[in-house]
Amino acid sequence: MIDGHIHIERGEYTLEWIKKFTDRAIEKNIEEIWLLEHCYRFTEFMPMYDSVCKYSEYIDKWFHKKAGVKELNDYLELMEKVRETDFGVKVMFGLEVCYFKEYEEFVYDLTKYKDFDFLLGSVHFVDDFAFDHKAEHWVGKDVDLIYARFFEASIELVKSNIFDGIAHPDSIKLFGHKTLYPLYEYYEELAKQLSNNNMYAEQNSGAHRRCPATAELGMDKDMLDAMLRHSVKIVTASDAHEPCDVGDNIAQLKKSISIG
Ligand SMILES: [Zn+2]
Ligand SMILES: [Zn+2]
Repeated sequence: MIDGHIHIERGEYTLEWIKKFTDRAIEKNIEEIWLLEHCYRFTEFMPMYDSVCKYSEYIDKWFHKKAGVKELNDYLELMEKVRETDFGVKVMFGLEVCYFKEYEEFVYDLTKYKDFDFLLGSVHFVDDFAFDHKAEHWVGKDVDLIYARFFEASIELVKSNIFDGIAHPDSIKLFGHKTLYPLYEYYEELAKQLSNNNMYAEQNSGAHRRCPATAELGMDKDMLDAMLRHSVKIVTASDAHEPCDVGDNIAQLKKSISIG
């Protein structure tokens, strides 16, 4: 089994810290872990967030607490050290990059020739709105419009051709909002574009772990069907932010893919 989305942000860049993740993987019968960081952790990516910080005072505060605490080189050095070490499981290194259309070239330039094993694209903001922080931020929002813009941004992310995969492709549902129109056409187009661009989609347990009452485990069933119909590669992922969550629900997610 693979856990393709594990954040290492809550510890130091040491082999001891990485071993906590690999040990947990071994315990949970995971053969391969994909470690990553949010790109905003690195000073180099901070300019991408100017407009989302301007849009919301809450995000501005959140961002300046979390962002820019490392430089990309620190991470690349850790990556090299880990590659020289045998942890008993396969370890891959990548980045989770927030997608903003106007920063496609910026991201491409910052990430090329860095020797990452994978680059994961995520829609965390819809027209500057940080939809996955707190349910109360949705009050007064146009749910139909936000969902439409989320999927439009996801399709643009795929077409940008910068990323290897798309993270949590229907995380917009985190707080259980529903559109008045069906989403099939977006699922279909997203799956088609993923397939055309040879990109993977995550089957991710993070949203369900965070909001079990409103977010089902993994993708919406119709979305998963569209992915399988278009032969999109699916990578199971926990979105763990600490070692104990490595492998969370990966066996169930794997089963969901084989059943379809
Ligand atoms: Zn994410
Ligand atoms: Zn993540």
